[in-house]
Amino acid sequence: MNAKVIDGNKIADAIKQEIKSELEKIKEKPVLVAVQVGENPASKVYIKNQKSSCEDIGIEYNLVQLDNSITEDALIAEIQKINRDEKVTGLILQMPLPAHINSRKVQMAISSQKDVEGVSPANLGKLLYSDVKPPVAPCTALSVMECIKSTGENIRGKEAVIVGHSEIVGKPVTLMLLSSLLESATPTVCHIATKNLASHTKRAEILIVAVGKAGLIKGNMIKEGAIVIDVGINRIQMKDEKGEPVIDEKTGKPKMKTVGDVVYEEAVNIAGYITPVPGGVGAVTTVMLLKNLLGLYKIQIGN
Ligand code: NAP
Repeated sequence: MNAKVIDGNKIADAIKQEIKSELEKIKEKPVLVAVQVGENPASKVYIKNQKSSCEDIGIEYNLVQLDNSITEDALIAEIQKINRDEKVTGLILQMPLPAHINSRKVQMAISSQKDVEGVSPANLGKLLYSDVKPPVAPCTALSVMECIKSTGENIRGKEAVIVGHSEIVGKPVTLMLLSSLLESATPTVCHIATKNLASHTKRAEILIVAVGKAGLIKGNMIKEGAIVIDVGINRIQMKDEKGEPVIDEKTGKPKMKTVGDVVYEEAVNIAGYITPVPGGVGAVTTVMLLKNLLGLYKIQIGN
């Protein structure tokens, strides 16, 4: 079998257009505020991408840059100030925070009305209701659902196996798959303590992998024709035909590439559908943040 490749960029573009046309009807543009503590090179890249995605479609993006030495209480006070600011539609807290700050405590200080990442207890809690569509939800989990939806396959009653049970991917995806709004699948959740992972993944008609371990899911662990959603993002060394690292002539260092958790070259011959890495789930995740922002905006204006 040759899997159909799920094109994350195409899905993202279509959603972006929907958001853009909704925004064109709005007089006052939504405002997204990002809070960053200290200088983290990885989150700098995220911030740059978030800013350009927002500005592309007419969302105002403001960065609040705070010093690395800020205390936990002072950071919570900043968050509360943004919570109260009526001009702000949504707030995103860039991770990681410095070690002296309890990230969970700060995250929980974000008002559910401004929680653009969908991670506040109130918003996560709404995922448990089958008859309520939460206005916001964790962006990566939403992206996984969009990728599945793009196949046009009915998920009702399908065997779904989720590998990884983090609170931003595995757990919310499991609840979304169970929701009657999205037509219930039959999910199994695997994690580090799961015995014989392959025995589960092999019966999955929908396989979602969100672990962060390159090469974890090999071709012989996948059911013929399955929908394979690879969430993992891993940087690994490029190898030549002999298995030796490929060296970058300019830097003298091994060349690196980004891969998922699934061995793509094997899986693509077995699966029915597959998301590539890069260009799959990750491409859709950022637009889901914008969709969440629009959801919050509509609530705030009483729509
Ligand atoms: P995480 O919080 O570290 O969670 C990883 C999960 O994998 C945990 O539930 C862990 O179980 C489980 N796990 C670890 N080893 C395992 C194994 N050998 N077999 C089965 N399960 C195992 O990670 P995350 O934030 O969910 O991210 C997962 C991956 O997705 C990372 O590569 C990350 O970079 C990527 N990601 C991508 C996007 C995107 O937009 N594409 C967004 C977010 C994250 P235990 O907790 O029991 O140890």
